Amino acid sequence: MPDDMMAGTSLEARLDRLAMLAVKVGLGLRPGQEIVLTAPIEAMPLVRRIVEHAYRAGATLVTPLISDDQVALARYRHAHPDEAFDVAPGWLFSAMAEAFKGGAARLAVVGDDPTLLSKEDPAKVARANKARSIAYRPALELITGFAINWNLVPCATPGWARQVFPNLPDCQAVDRLWDAIFAACRVDAADPVAEWARHNATLHARCDFLNGKDFRELHFRGPGTDLRVGLADGHLWCGGAEAAKNGIVCNPNIPTEEVFTTPHALRVEGVVRSTKPLSYQGTLIEDIAVRFEEGRIVEANASKGAEVLTKVLGTDEGAARLGEVALVPHSSPISKSGLLFSNTLFDENAASHIALGQAYTTCLRDSAGVPMDELAKRGANASLIHIDWMIGSGSVEVDGVTKSGAVEPLMRAGEFVAGPV
Ligand code: ZN
Ligand code: ZN
Repeated sequence: MPDDMMAGTSLEARLDRLAMLAVKVGLGLRPGQEIVLTAPIEAMPLVRRIVEHAYRAGATLVTPLISDDQVALARYRHAHPDEAFDVAPGWLFSAMAEAFKGGAARLAVVGDDPTLLSKEDPAKVARANKARSIAYRPALELITGFAINWNLVPCATPGWARQVFPNLPDCQAVDRLWDAIFAACRVDAADPVAEWARHNATLHARCDFLNGKDFRELHFRGPGTDLRVGLADGHLWCGGAEAAKNGIVCNPNIPTEEVFTTPHALRVEGVVRSTKPLSYQGTLIEDIAVRFEEGRIVEANASKGAEVLTKVLGTDEGAARLGEVALVPHSSPISKSGLLFSNTLFDENAASHIALGQAYTTCLRDSAGVPMDELAKRGANASLIHIDWMIGSGSVEVDGVTKSGAVEPLMRAGEFVAGPV
């Protein structure tokens, strides 16, 4: 079916295709697997379809854990004393970790209202976040370390849609957000599964090309940007479908457009300006302009949200250094939408980006089982935070610099000009 016909297809039919993609392409579900599924309550129409596809594909048991914004807010407004915010459901996270160790897959439906907690007491929010991070770590490590197959899939909720389309009534905003989600997730292609196979092949070919080059650094140039990002020793480019350690090939993010790797925490020099606002815990940080010296941000400005940026950079020693650099062509469907989604799953796939904070150890060769302080010697950064912000646009160029100092054009006017394009 041609794309324009699909766009006229009912919401139900497109939801069903997204659910099918989450199970088949996102999780790559293996018959006999359990699924631990989390979702906001507004996502139930999508959740029910996912569950149906999962059982048809051979899932033994799908266990949904449903959250609700009003329930979350009630805690910040009425729970007391303050020590109550040090409590996290460790018992639940232990059970999730137990399920993963027993072979369960992890599916998260995301549709958070980015401003949900912006009016609540920041001290309580920080306290609750910290307690949750500590309690969730054993389960999260199994996910980020790819012990299991996992997937994040989006769902348009009224709270999120209001942020993306502030001038529309809720129901129209939700419809428009769904259209944008379906386009970004390639749901409207004639054969979405085949389309994802083609897309994954492109991302893998791009990674192979960049891994073959083994560049010493990337050089970004554009308005307000002249940045040299040294790459970690033995860095590895990743992107698209990946084989988890349980042998199952999954697409952890739907949508995804990026290829990404680990920069060298001590070898970043120059100036860079953000090309899109950064939505961070309910605050928009706009026109970020920073200067790096020996890998560290030594000067930081923003036209809006500068105090929040300063606070973020002061989180810990690694928060003012880079943990990720990613390349995304300006022609990506998300970039073409021209929308600010205020959701990392989308915004980081709209443009080339860098991330402050923690590095992905999977983006380093031979990193399995190697302690973090050893990986740090190769340039991997460590921090409690990982915050992506966009530095790519149609007027940004990227060169790769080889170990012998040769300069090779990689991107011009925001598009790849080398490797598979
Ligand atoms: Zn990224
Ligand atoms: Zn990132």
